[in-house]
Amino acid sequence: MTYWGSQGSFYAARTAAEAGAAARRSERQAEGLEERFERSMLTLEAMWTLLRDKLGLTDEDLCNRMTDLDLSDGQLDGKHRHEPRSCPKCGKAIGPRFAKCIYCGQLVEQTPFA
Ligand SMILES: [Zn+2]
Repeated sequence: MTYWGSQGSFYAARTAAEAGAAARRSERQAEGLEERFERSMLTLEAMWTLLRDKLGLTDEDLCNRMTDLDLSDGQLDGKHRHEPRSCPKCGKAIGPRFAKCIYCGQLVEQTPFA
């Protein structure tokens, strides 16, 4: 019997090949995310050091602000969750990432970090 002699072997080989391709895609995506993360951290550090040097702020000021923002959603967990807003036209909740109301189409003000 050859390697491809049974249907089970064929499907097993195809499944293994698909799993390998999916793993390579995931690896490329992870590398892309890591590069974007590193670039974002560099940008953040550049922005912070610029503000610190130009405005005389301190690292303690930054840490205190980070804690305040973290706590503003009720949990000290290293995250700042944005509360949903209400549509000024129909009053329904609008998620922080939406630029307009999904119910009535009303455009809403965007915030830089939503
Ligand atoms: Zn609306």
